Amino acid sequence: MRVDLHCHTTASDGGLDPAALCQRAVAQGVELLAITDHDTVRGYREAAAWLSTQDLPLQLLPAAEYSCNWRNISVHIVGLGIDVEHPASLAAGLYFDSARRERAALIGAKLAKLGIEGALEGALALAGASQIGRPYFARYLVAQGVVRSEDEAFERYLGAGKVGDVRVLWPELATVVEWITAAGGVAVLAHPAKYRLTATRLRTLVADFAASGGAAIEVVVGRQPSDTTAFMAQLCRQHDLAASVGSDFHKPGHSWSELGKIDDLPKGCEPVWMRWSNLESKPHEV
Ligand code: AMP
Ligand code: MN
Ligand code: MN
Ligand code: MN
Repeated sequence: MRVDLHCHTTASDGGLDPAALCQRAVAQGVELLAITDHDTVRGYREAAAWLSTQDLPLQLLPAAEYSCNWRNISVHIVGLGIDVEHPASLAAGLYFDSARRERAALIGAKLAKLGIEGALEGALALAGASQIGRPYFARYLVAQGVVRSEDEAFERYLGAGKVGDVRVLWPELATVVEWITAAGGVAVLAHPAKYRLTATRLRTLVADFAASGGAAIEVVVGRQPSDTTAFMAQLCRQHDLAASVGSDFHKPGHSWSELGKIDDLPKGCEPVWMRWSNLESKPHEV
């Protein structure tokens, strides 16, 4: 079964709307998909509504990628199979919608202090109905000619440790795991290799995550070096965690990130999606 349990739509910072994303997933041969927009389930909701009008061989898991704090760094936790109507999911959605607006105002104020005017309004206008986040600030900075590329915007203004890296409003890791679990979902530590932690610190993160009730980690993110995969699989075994896989697809055109283009899970890992594999009949209703 081809599985992709991590991707984004225009509900957050992705380039395809939920229906177009589902169509691309089917074209790529994906059979089980989780749309994991940043801090919102609107991408999932729209995709599920659209899929119910189609007859496509695609099963959709309700999901989101939540932001949180762990020891002064931002960490992402994917909630898979959450009941999106559960009070914990609804409360998380409200919390993050307002936290992201407040955070955007803080980022705008910090950029204004550096003499970059109008960033909040500009980023909000570019985001439209999408969940506001740093990528929209990056696009505004490019549009204004402050930087030449979105990468440069992150390097100079928005990336880890820069002025626009505002984390104060994120909940603690344990809180996010609790929200996901309360809503009947499985908490998955997203892209562990992306935080650029030393092996020792990554082990501590995974240990804390497991102790908080985390159930799985993303062992494979798209195409990655085999030693990374081996290390993630080892962390799974050590902490008795299941394994997830995803592309973290945002938009077409990045050859290194495509829906469903994901290395195989190493033998011995427990695929997290086995929990939902008994759900069939109507393929997209989970
Ligand atoms: P936010 O959700 O507001 O914290 O923004 C984080 C998002 O910015 C990530 O999910 C990426 O899609 C995007 N991004 C692009 N380039 C970078 C970068 N160099 N560092 C961090 N995030 C980046
Ligand atoms: Mn993103
Ligand atoms: Mn992420
Ligand atoms: Mn992501």
